[in-house]
Amino acid sequence: MANIDPLESQISADLLVVGGGTAGMTSAIETAETGKKAILIEKLPSLGGRVVTIYQYFPKLCPPTCGVEINLRRIRSNPNIRVLTLAEVESISGTPGDFEVKIKLSPRYVNEKCTCCGDCEKVCELERDNDLNYGLNKTKAIYLPHLMAYPPRYVIDPEFVKDESMKKVVEACPYDAIELDMEPVTITAKVGGIVWATGWKPYDATKIENLGFGKIKNVVTNVIMERLAADNGPTEGKIVRPSDQKEVTSVGFVQCAGSRDENHLPYCSAICCMASMKEATYVRAQYPDAEVHIFYIDIRSPGRLEDFYVKMQEDEKFHFHRGKVAKITENPENGNVILEAENTLTGEIIKTEVDMAVLATGMVPNTVDDAPPLDTPLDDFGFIAPDTTNGIVGAGVAARPYDVSATVQDATGAALKALNIGTRR
Ligand SMILES: Cc1cc2nc3c(=O)[nH]c(=O)nc-3n(C[C@H](O)[C@H](O)[C@H](O)COP(=O)(O)OP(=O)(O)OC[C@H]3O[C@@H](n4cnc5c(N)ncnc54)[C@H](O)[C@@H]3O)c2cc1C
Repeated sequence: MANIDPLESQISADLLVVGGGTAGMTSAIETAETGKKAILIEKLPSLGGRVVTIYQYFPKLCPPTCGVEINLRRIRSNPNIRVLTLAEVESISGTPGDFEVKIKLSPRYVNEKCTCCGDCEKVCELERDNDLNYGLNKTKAIYLPHLMAYPPRYVIDPEFVKDESMKKVVEACPYDAIELDMEPVTITAKVGGIVWATGWKPYDATKIENLGFGKIKNVVTNVIMERLAADNGPTEGKIVRPSDQKEVTSVGFVQCAGSRDENHLPYCSAICCMASMKEATYVRAQYPDAEVHIFYIDIRSPGRLEDFYVKMQEDEKFHFHRGKVAKITENPENGNVILEAENTLTGEIIKTEVDMAVLATGMVPNTVDDAPPLDTPLDDFGFIAPDTTNGIVGAGVAARPYDVSATVQDATGAALKALNIGTRR
């Protein structure tokens, strides 16, 4: 059983992995399965990363729970991995092979006696925005991050911990698992190599003013669409349009929303074409008569993913329009949205009215706002550059826009590289 809670103030391992998403879990697991020791730190209360917010994976359309569960099983059964959640790097000193890392552990306010019985949640009167659902609904102030949360343990949002009403929550716990007076601690880790796998966030769609997100209610983004389709999402899996909860009869997908655009993200995020075609299948599965319009510059479905695109083209309810959407407006009479684009094959200006539009926004590396220490070189867009002179190796979407299977490959290579750097010098 991997050790979750640090009892010592100093720990050591061959590799430190920062970020507990697909990339970070993979780097830690691959390291541990070669017999080396890894410390995996995640700043949120649970491992999993962004994939736990995805309803189904392309191209197989299976739930992400399968992959996450396999990784968690490998972590739980390997004593070479030490997992620290609510953990962030404060500072790094030393050199490759001999790094000293200060790690800050924020309080969870719930100890290891928690059995996830949920009695605390039932009596809690305070609510917070549910970050898993991009704030579209609420959780209680004491909450389980999601059903597959690891560690499987409740957590209290620090904003509410001092509220008088939390005393009732403490009393409701039959296991004495809630400790409102927990304090942050800083521990030291001595490690040989470091993998930085801090992943991505969605591009802020409110910046793409011509596409109306944030102003027009029935314009959503691709990450929100994943949550609308998910059973544990804000609509319990029913895809309805936000303004009036109406079932949808037509949906427009806007590719390259802010991507490949010098004013926003100049690069291609590599996954948006596949993600939209996949999300279009969510719509078609719930509404067999619904029409789907996909507006694109070019469809990027490399390698075997092309089969998925070909299959989508066979569906007569899928309409592919080659042209970038220039403007989205609202029809005030019915709340529909009107997508305006030039069809670059025919030169025709087309206006398409649909119930709801989905903006395929790209992935922004978290390293843009939260750069790795030791002057780790970043490329022009904020991804970690392949230069590993300082000993820090980027993995997953922190290093490049990748889908899950490319993330796994990249993170496996990154672990090997970081271990090699850590022992060579
Ligand atoms: C709409 C959409 C749909 C998608 N659908 C699919 C799909 O169907 N199939 C597919 O293959 N791919 C899909 N993807 C891509 C997939 O989400 C990524 O490939 C995957 O999330 C990459 O994993 P990662 O570990 O690099 O990053 P993340 O999933 O972002 O994980 C990074 C982790 O690091 C943590 N972290 C961040 N900063 C710190 C810090 N300073 N300290 C400690 N921890 C930190 C984060 O909290 C997070 O847990 C989709 C992407 C989008 C946008």
